[in-house]
Amino acid sequence: MTHSTGILYIVSAPSGAGKTSLVKALIDAQPQIRVSVSHTTRAMRPGEINDVNYHFVDRAEFLRMIEHGDFLEQAEVFGNLYGTSQSRLQQTLDEGHDLILEIDWQGAEQVRRLMPDARSIFILPPTQQALRQRLTNRGQDSDEIIEGRMREAVSEMSHYVEYDFIVINDDFAAALEDLKAIFRANQLRQKPQQQRFNNLLAELLA
Ligand code: 5GP
Repeated sequence: MTHSTGILYIVSAPSGAGKTSLVKALIDAQPQIRVSVSHTTRAMRPGEINDVNYHFVDRAEFLRMIEHGDFLEQAEVFGNLYGTSQSRLQQTLDEGHDLILEIDWQGAEQVRRLMPDARSIFILPPTQQALRQRLTNRGQDSDEIIEGRMREAVSEMSHYVEYDFIVINDDFAAALEDLKAIFRANQLRQKPQQQRFNNLLAELLA
């Protein structure tokens, strides 16, 4: 049995849709799936850990990395810079791990162009009210920031049409099952299965 290369996944959502919790639950259940750690210039939130949630860097360092061509994709979101570093990305896929990029629609557009085999998933909240509630419950931002984020969320959500899969995060457990189903179905596609089972296929067709 030869191993097959991993599949690159783009996961996008408006902030407050529960993307990070869903992705975390997915990789807790399936640790062979990897998540890329992005670089960002935004300030660390309480509870976040450098090099775990993000590689937190200042703007000068980020701009240096752009100049060096270190990023597969990068975008400005809410006035902060975010980017996916190229290093280790291909290696992770070559090792056979599926890899998730939690990035916004602008980054998704760039990745689709560069890596047309990438699959993209958009996570939506069940209602606009639920989204507002979740943004408020965080309790970390002022009303003005929350209203700004609501506007950004609506604009982010308008990009759902560009994605291969849509998951509605109403019931967390159900949304997690939907995510797992997407990953499983993709692993069963003909090309990766052919790579995985080439010995068996040769034997069956002998
Ligand atoms: P947050 O600051 O709330 O963690 O993330 C804000 C937005 O930036 C989210 O939509 C998130 O998906 C996006 N984001 C995080 N990392 C990256 C990245 O590396 N590239 C791009 N394009 N967007 C990112």
